[in-house]
Amino acid sequence: MTSAAKSISVVNTVANLAAHLDPVHADGLTVGFVPTMGALHDGHASLIDASVASTDVTVVSIFVNPLQFVPGEDLNVYPRDIDGDVARCAAHGAAVVFAPSVNAIYPKGLPLEGIDAAKIDPGEVAQPLEGRERPTHFIGVAEVITRLFTAMGPCRAFFGEKDFQQLQVVRHLVAELNMPIAVVGCPTVRESDGLAWSSRNVHLNDRERATAPVLYRALQAAAAAVAEPGWDRMAVEATMSTMIEAELAGPVDYAAVVDPLTLLPPEDPRPGDELRLLVACQFGEARLIDNVGAVAG
Ligand code: AMP
Repeated sequence: MTSAAKSISVVNTVANLAAHLDPVHADGLTVGFVPTMGALHDGHASLIDASVASTDVTVVSIFVNPLQFVPGEDLNVYPRDIDGDVARCAAHGAAVVFAPSVNAIYPKGLPLEGIDAAKIDPGEVAQPLEGRERPTHFIGVAEVITRLFTAMGPCRAFFGEKDFQQLQVVRHLVAELNMPIAVVGCPTVRESDGLAWSSRNVHLNDRERATAPVLYRALQAAAAAVAEPGWDRMAVEATMSTMIEAELAGPVDYAAVVDPLTLLPPEDPRPGDELRLLVACQFGEARLIDNVGAVAG
């Protein structure tokens, strides 16, 4: 353990977080922020490492945000392991774990009368893909991220490309609301067979776990296909769906080739243009998403 590991602090309120961060800001030091929902894995650890490497003080938040779960989703069985999480944060050199209660983040209570009571617009980029499958999800993400950023103050905030659309929603928010936050996107970390680390992977049974790497194989095949001259978007999307559905009982939620900025089908793509390929599907109890970057041929 490093000395940073020994001195990790766990705070539960915005006031106590400020007590840690006010002197840091006053001293002109940089703050790194890694927002998570806990059940930390190697993907989260890579974000902590990136923050520790490029900022003076790293804060990891652990907050399972009820507002971003669509009714009927896995909020009540979402994996939680606060002791293991704090130990992992310490081992990777984070200085503070911010683990607030729901009340600390939503002092007036959750807007239970409906997601309509949420006030932050996640923007156009929140509409397709996940936004269509989980209509209120990004409204909840925008709400919690705005509250967490307000609590943090100026910082560098580290997000995984694993949740690529979320990363673009956060970039939109920061630009739209002039937040003093530098958003840093970090590459997806995968297990040795290609499956992206996800807290939800614990819900996969042995057979599902064995077949789940098909998501990454389909994305890689699609990335190779769009690099060929004359590629056809609909054909590439159909091939991805077919590859994944061969291993699944049901249909994919989506398998899409999009413009990385709009998350919409690319208009008139030219050779050399950047693309993003994204897939989502239900694997038993776990809903898995994955994506890769690609360059048009
Ligand atoms: P979550 O706890 O799932 O809300 O994720 C917290 C942060 O970790 C988000 O910025 C995610 O994109 C990021 N993350 C999750 N899984 C991975 C992964 N396999 N590789 C890199 N970042 C990840």
